[in-house]
Amino acid sequence: MTSVEAVRGPVEVTDLGRTYMHEHVFVLSADVQQNFPEEWGDEDERVADAVEKLKALAAQGVRTIVDPTVIGLGRYIPRIQRIAAQVPELNIVVATGCYTYDDVPFFFHYRGPALDEVVGTEVPDPMVDMFVGDIETGIADTGVRAALLKCAIDAPGLTRGVERVMRAVAKAHHRTGTPITVHTHPGTRTGLEVKRVMCDEEGVDPRRVVLGHSGDTTDVDHLTELAEAGFVLGMDRFGINLDTTFEARADTVVEMCRRGYAEQMVLSQDASCYIDWIDPGVKQMLTQWHYLHIEDEVLPYLRDKGVTEDQINTMLVDVPRRYFEVS
Ligand SMILES: [Zn+2]
Repeated sequence: MTSVEAVRGPVEVTDLGRTYMHEHVFVLSADVQQNFPEEWGDEDERVADAVEKLKALAAQGVRTIVDPTVIGLGRYIPRIQRIAAQVPELNIVVATGCYTYDDVPFFFHYRGPALDEVVGTEVPDPMVDMFVGDIETGIADTGVRAALLKCAIDAPGLTRGVERVMRAVAKAHHRTGTPITVHTHPGTRTGLEVKRVMCDEEGVDPRRVVLGHSGDTTDVDHLTELAEAGFVLGMDRFGINLDTTFEARADTVVEMCRRGYAEQMVLSQDASCYIDWIDPGVKQMLTQWHYLHIEDEVLPYLRDKGVTEDQINTMLVDVPRRYFEVS
């Protein structure tokens, strides 16, 4: 039996239950918050607000959320521990990795492979040991261990920084067996870059990789190509209807189910209790972007369009379980 590390300790994969594979608790610009904390306000109030929102999610029958908040997204585990202790009915699984669309954070600029030319030999990337430490030892003396690896590739494509993080994530995966989630930009087919670098060159099994934000496109032929390559498709931004619509997102899932790919999709919302990336006024316009949207609006729509209860269960329970099972 395989277990998955969650904030409050290990959980058997068979006990993960209904799992949302991409939800944040907080997304924060850490050094802005440290210096301009006015909007964030009172720490206790923020924690209480998160507890309330996560309790409402758990009350819908969701047993586990996977929170891919890593370096670049303001990960701060002591706060998550405080919240998790007050919502014991929900497993919160946390991640390690690095989130960038272009260059690596300045911390890494003159470390590791950046020194290859100066030193005249291949210098190992310190990111790999940092990620492995988060997985095997725990994050920053909290005792909480990361259970997945995260990196990103967006519209700028495979920049040097993006490639460096992607290869570091692949190496940490091989050392630990920990599954991977990649923020992708399906509109520019970046999933194919993930396939080339991470799978073809670094040897990662695509069945252990979620291509996040696959649901941002309606190009079902492209999604079929990625599914055929073996990836898990993250239909994981339900409620973010800025460049798309609720129906477009949902109909893409319906069509992919019709094509037989329920076994390779996961559903989520990429929501958070608080995100400082967006003007609060604009956030208010995204009225469906919250933790309860899938149960309240997406699942009824999918059922109405012929997606079966079995397929829903597959996407919400079986695919997440299999992803965490060591193969
Ligand atoms: Zn996200």
